[in-house]
Amino acid sequence: MYCEVQKGSYEGAPGLFSRIAHNRSSGCILQFACWLALMGLCPGSAHASAKLQLSKDGKTLTLTSHLYFYGADANETIAKDCANEINLYWNGGTHLDSVIRPVSAQALGAKEEFQMQVSGEVISPDLAKKLLASHPSPEFNFIQILKGKPGVDHSFMNRICGNSGTWYLSDELGTSTTAAHEFGHGICLKHPFTADMRGRGAPRMMVPKNSLVDAQFQIDPHARAGKAGGVLNPLLRRVFQSDVDEIDWEDLRFDANGVSSLGGDAPELYPERVY
Ligand SMILES: [Zn+2]
Repeated sequence: MYCEVQKGSYEGAPGLFSRIAHNRSSGCILQFACWLALMGLCPGSAHASAKLQLSKDGKTLTLTSHLYFYGADANETIAKDCANEINLYWNGGTHLDSVIRPVSAQALGAKEEFQMQVSGEVISPDLAKKLLASHPSPEFNFIQILKGKPGVDHSFMNRICGNSGTWYLSDELGTSTTAAHEFGHGICLKHPFTADMRGRGAPRMMVPKNSLVDAQFQIDPHARAGKAGGVLNPLLRRVFQSDVDEIDWEDLRFDANGVSSLGGDAPELYPERVY
């Protein structure tokens, strides 16, 4: 029954995107759930965090997201800096290295140019609460900004694939890669399975703080691994192709206009805070 509903929905979609839908089959019930999420009809869609748009020629995939910042320490500068950092890193740049290394998506099973377009603005806590309760569109995210204490408070998203979280100024938002890392959780990316990344070269974006890394990527390259300064220097991580490859491209479903979303079908699997 679920298969029939799902297939009928896609058969009406013309051209390229219809073929995408038919070429992927990882479970009829899951597909139906994703279709409902795309239509904004199931609770999961409220947890999505980004909208995806395939270009008509199928060569470019653009991920768009808008961050609503609110809370006692939210301001327009932080909103702008966080959005800029996310765009910089997820489009292949870094704060330190002027060389852009673009990454590619695999929504069609082939490579598409991956583009990130994130914007941000400050709203009142009351408006944030109201919008959150209104089942917002997938591309809207809600980030509470608080001052925080260094070494005590750690920025987090409320869940993997979540559209809400709390970020702390003490994490040097916009200048440290924290915003880019937390946004990665919003688009369903998880940490590597091990916190010992030694021998694996330059750290990718989803390596968490306090991970063990090769000496040149430590806060203090001369410190002993795991001791003071002997852990990841967050400024030295960047988005690699391996980060983007972790996105569940196989499970994405695009409508007739080439639109999909990230994050709608996984929140129940990962209900915990993620830092
Ligand atoms: Zn994390």
